[in-house]
This record gives sequence, C-alpha cells and structure tokens, in this order.
Amino acid sequence: MNRFALLTRGRPNQDFTCLDLELPAECALLVRVVSDWGGRVFLVGGLVRDWLLARSGLVPNRDSNWAGGGRDAKSDWDIAVDLRKTGKTLVQLMREICRQTGGRYVFYQRFLTGTITLPAGRIDISHTRAESYPGPAVLPKVQAAGIEEDLGRRDFTVNALAIEMNAQGQSRVVDLYGGQKDLQARLIRIIHPGSFIDDPTRIFRCIRFAVRLGFEIESGTAYLLRTAVKDGYPALLTPERVLYELRCICNETEVLKVLEAVVKESVLKGCWQWQPSQDFFTELKVLTQAGIRGELLFIYLLSRLPIAPNYPVTREEQRAQQALRDFPLLAGRLRRARRRSTFYRLLKPLPLPALKILTVLTEGLIKNRLELFLRELKDIKPELSSQDLIESGIKPGPQLGRILEQLLYARLDRRVKNRDSELRLVRRLRRKDV
Ligand code: ATP
Repeated sequence: MNRFALLTRGRPNQDFTCLDLELPAECALLVRVVSDWGGRVFLVGGLVRDWLLARSGLVPNRDSNWAGGGRDAKSDWDIAVDLRKTGKTLVQLMREICRQTGGRYVFYQRFLTGTITLPAGRIDISHTRAESYPGPAVLPKVQAAGIEEDLGRRDFTVNALAIEMNAQGQSRVVDLYGGQKDLQARLIRIIHPGSFIDDPTRIFRCIRFAVRLGFEIESGTAYLLRTAVKDGYPALLTPERVLYELRCICNETEVLKVLEAVVKESVLKGCWQWQPSQDFFTELKVLTQAGIRGELLFIYLLSRLPIAPNYPVTREEQRAQQALRDFPLLAGRLRRARRRSTFYRLLKPLPLPALKILTVLTEGLIKNRLELFLRELKDIKPELSSQDLIESGIKPGPQLGRILEQLLYARLDRRVKNRDSELRLVRRLRRKDV
C-alpha cells in the first residue's frame, strides 16, 4: 500500500490532515504515470462517498471498510483521468500500466472507459467526460472533458465527489456540487432538475441509495422523482436497464425496504404496469430473513414480474423462474407421492436455485420433501456404473438407460443396498427384458 495524505479543502499544497488514503501499489503507479505525463487523476464514485462518510463517522455502511486502514485489497477502484493536455490516450495509459504490472485491460471506446484486471483487484478507469442526452431515457453521447463536467453528469451530489491525487502523494477533495454538505445533512439530491428525465434509472438508484445509507431524499428531488414517474418516464426504459436496476436492488442488504419504497413510488407500475400483491412482500420477508440475496432473490423476483420471453435474462434464470411459477401444480403431486423415487422424479427436473427458494417458502410435508431431496436424494447413485453393465454383457442403447434408471429408483427406495443386490436386480430386469 502507498500512503496518500488527504489535503484539506481550500488549502493548496500545505496543511495536510493526519488522515491518509491508502492505495494499492498499482493505483499509486497510475497516479505517478499520469502525473508524469502532465495529466490529472482522481478517485471517483461510491468509494469516495463511502470513505468520506466513514471518515466523518456518519455511516458504518457495508462498503466503508476503507475507513481507517485501507479498503479491501481485492476491491474495485474507480479512477478518472484527464489526459487532454498530455497528448496521450486512455488506451496508452492502460497499456503502460499493464506493461509495468502484468495486468490485462479492456477498453470501451463508446464510453471512454476501461477496466484493468490485476491480481490484487480491478481498476475501473475512465477519461473525465461530458455527457449529452439525445432524448429521455436514451444512453448518452460522451466526449472527453474536465473533472467539472465529469462530476456534473453524475446522479447525486454525494456521488459527485472526487479526490484528486498527485505524484507527490498529496490529495484533495473536489466537491463542486455540495456533496459533503449533503453527506452531513444525510440527503440524496440530484444535481440538475432534468436528471430523472435524462436517465430514469436514477429513480431506482435514488431510492436504493437513500435506503442503503439511511438518508432522506431531499424534498425538491423527491418532487421531481414523483413527477417523472407520474409523467411516464420509467416506461421509456428498456427491459435490460430495468432488470439491471433490479439486480442491483437484490444485492442490497435492505432489499425489502428498497422494494417496498420502489413499489410505494409506483416505479415498477410505471415500467411494466406491475403492482405486487401483499403475499409478495410476505414471501420476500421470509426469503430475506433466511438470508436469500443476490441472484436467488432476483430469480424469485423474476417469477413474480410480468417478464416477456424476449427479456434479457439467462437461460438458467429463465428456467428457474418458470419452475417457481409452475410449482403450485407440482406441489399437489409431491404431497400425494409416497416413494422417495417419486419425490426424486418430480424434483429432479427443477433447477437448483428454484429448489433452494422453494425450500424456504414452503412448509410442512412439502418442505420436508424438498429438503430431503436437496440433502440426500439428489446425490444418490447406484454402485454399478454404465461401464459395469456393459461389461456384464448389456449392449449400449435404450435398454441400458432403462436398467440404470430402475437401479437408481431401487437405490432411492432402499430396495437395493449394495453391489450384490444391484447385480441381482439387473439380472431380474434383463429376464423381464425391460
Ligand atoms: P456502489 O458501488 O457502492 O453501489 P457506486 O456509487 O460506486 O456505489 P456505481 O453504480 O458503481 O455505484 O456507480 C459509480 C458512480 O458512477 C456513481 O457514484 C455515480 O457517480 C456514477 N453513476 C452511476 N450510474 C449513474 C447514472 N445512472 N447516472 C449518473 N451517474 C451515475
């Protein structure tokens, strides 16, 4: 780790505070290279917000482990550089860092951003840039610009803070939109009135950050958020962008509160005409209390949303959410079943994420059977392999498959217990010519 002293605001190059920034060596290298070239380099985004919050003792939130001694070395680092006066490009910078560290980079020309992957973590790097929106809810056009424009295009004042660093190990907070004041006042505030119209995903982000940080939404921002919803802007978002926001929400610790607020503000009604029933929140509560988060919770959410077949979700997610939707039909058969092999046959086709979710949501007999399947039945195998059967004279083909299946069911139902009884069963099955 390289230490970077934090220079207090308004005092150029002297009077450092005693609080230090600690950067992984690769970030420090990046600062040196950019400074040597005559460019500027900034830490930006949520890590600056979280660091300032933790430094002032305001919020010990999930990500503020950067506070007193170093952000997790494996964390992502969000860095913006201004290379306009250097005659160099972002790609040249990434190439140089990778040359010196052995890292790998990818570059996205359209957004002037890139990622350097290093053994110690990831550096997300962008050129400071201005954005212009060709229309509401359309992805912006970007062009290289200074830090002022770069911070001005961001969503909320508390996310529009930067820390500038130089090769002398000095650093200073760049706060052009009152982000530090809003951190103190615990407010989420947009930077300009058209913000939610330019990008309605900020409606989701606004609610998500307010809940996560325990902040109020500033009154003017709340008014503009509701106006944007009332005026139908969420409906302009592509399914892909809405689903991305829902994925982010599912990763939040307070996911239930975020979704309650999203529903209260009619945001999903605005996107997809979706208003959940009370049992949705009851189930969600049960799932979150059981520690279900992230991908599993997202699959549950999908199973309740009116998603169309062409929506961009993975095949696994599609299968799992469909299994959840279809489960009420299967539940009756599972309840009536008597044999362990029947439980197996009914549950085997269900994707694992769906089974995990159902185990939490169900009760009594059904829950017991789901748990039995997950704990024991799904891993049971006969001792005899297909190779053993071929060596005993059975030809590869449909009969072999049927015999293996019968062996498995017999094993599940405990009708055979060892290799010998399996061999006897195979002989009987062959005689019957199954
Ligand atoms: P965390 O990673 O802790 O969830 P974050 O603030 O880093 O929080 P990201 O979604 O990674 O969240 O965004 C990084 C930064 O990019 C934000 O802090 C914000 O400045 C900017 N940003 C992200 N999405 C938008 C958006 N839709 N509109 C404007 N600025 C955005």
